[in-house]
Amino acid sequence: MAIWTITSSGIGGRFSLESGISNNENASLDSVDIQTESDTDDRPSQSGLGSLEVNTSLLPADLQPSPLTLPGSFSPKPESISDSIRSSGTEGVGSASIFLNSSFEGRSAKNRLATGAKNGSSGPSEEAVDAALAYLARHQQNNGSWTIRLIDGPCKGQCDHGGEDLDPHDVAATGLALLCFLGRGHTLQEGEYSEQVSRGVYFLVQNLKSQSGRGTWLTTNNQRWMYEHGIATLALCEALQMKGDAALLTKPCQDAIAHIVYAQHNDGSWGYQPKDSGDLSIMGWQVLALKSAHGAKLAVNAETIRNVDIFLKKHNRNDFMFYYRDQANKPTASMTSIGTLLRIFRGWSRTDPAIIKAVEYLGKEGPSTVDPYYNYYATQVLYQFGGKPWLDWNARLRDFLVSSQEKEGHMAGSWWFQTAKATPAGIANETGGRLYVTAMTCLTLEVYYRYLPVNEAVTDDFQY
Ligand SMILES: [Zn+2]
Repeated sequence: MAIWTITSSGIGGRFSLESGISNNENASLDSVDIQTESDTDDRPSQSGLGSLEVNTSLLPADLQPSPLTLPGSFSPKPESISDSIRSSGTEGVGSASIFLNSSFEGRSAKNRLATGAKNGSSGPSEEAVDAALAYLARHQQNNGSWTIRLIDGPCKGQCDHGGEDLDPHDVAATGLALLCFLGRGHTLQEGEYSEQVSRGVYFLVQNLKSQSGRGTWLTTNNQRWMYEHGIATLALCEALQMKGDAALLTKPCQDAIAHIVYAQHNDGSWGYQPKDSGDLSIMGWQVLALKSAHGAKLAVNAETIRNVDIFLKKHNRNDFMFYYRDQANKPTASMTSIGTLLRIFRGWSRTDPAIIKAVEYLGKEGPSTVDPYYNYYATQVLYQFGGKPWLDWNARLRDFLVSSQEKEGHMAGSWWFQTAKATPAGIANETGGRLYVTAMTCLTLEVYYRYLPVNEAVTDDFQY
């Protein structure tokens, strides 16, 4: 039974954290059993690029891959994951054994433009992010929150698709808006929008209901409870990680993480409500929140992460295409994006056949002109993978997003993508309205500096 994906990441043999990468593997939280026996995993061990063989017979005929150009940054022999972890600088309370660290270094005012340009942003894409943040700032409510139901806020219904029939989802909406500001380097203390960030963070902190060491947001719509909780927790932990107010944020963040740990179903998933069996979509937000907590040096329960691995292992087809909830669901590009991104953050190598096949699949699917949710996750996968697949993806997506943004009037800086309401993208867009579509698209255009690729070393001028 595989419980630890790093041992299977195609890097040639197993490794152990006994090499000094972690100094707390015996801690009650964060402890991970690194098993070195061959039966700890049923994935084939790889010994480098020379032995890399993608079994393309598993692919449908229309997905047969063309020869894949590996990212130009690849060395002749792939770096070991242990080296990657070591260079990611995640020693400390948050053990390196949980997630590969993806630093926030690129977000800083000093680094953002250079990092963005190096990774594929453009002047117009940067202006589009600026315009989106200005739109979001204009739509913040007096109590510091944002709402999906724009008619309630300062907008007063001037936006179309502003959701007068929608649930406000103010916890999730606040989390999404904060992630956009934080992704651009606006923090509690720094940046043009530090006041907006502070008011949004305080709204979340004030509305977290903590009890017995766990905290959650009691939302107006329990059907979306864990969605809202995961998104808001991710935002708070990012705020803490970015030189946040530790005295204000540490306990709320740790309590909110404790609720995520508590709320996991024993099959490894999260549902709409705590302890429900759930799906990969809800799981994505919880795991990203756990990852951000780990980056903020909070304690993260290793067993929770191992259970995620087990869920991912059971919910794919041909090892690389993921489905939403159960085998009755067809694998989709959106779910494959989430599953693959989580694998990358868990240490799966870019040379692993499953990662390569997923990238090939997403490349053939291409970016969407209507689905900001899929674009958000798939863009992160392609960005983390790098090389020609990323360059091709970015060339197809970036300028489309810039050109599709509202340019004038009250809605300037926002996005809306109209599509059939019966499709997953249509349902999500209609449920989240213009604010959700705008936030997800803004985050997609921040990909160039929001997280550095997990295998890029952190430099000495690390900012956050
Ligand atoms: Zn408006």
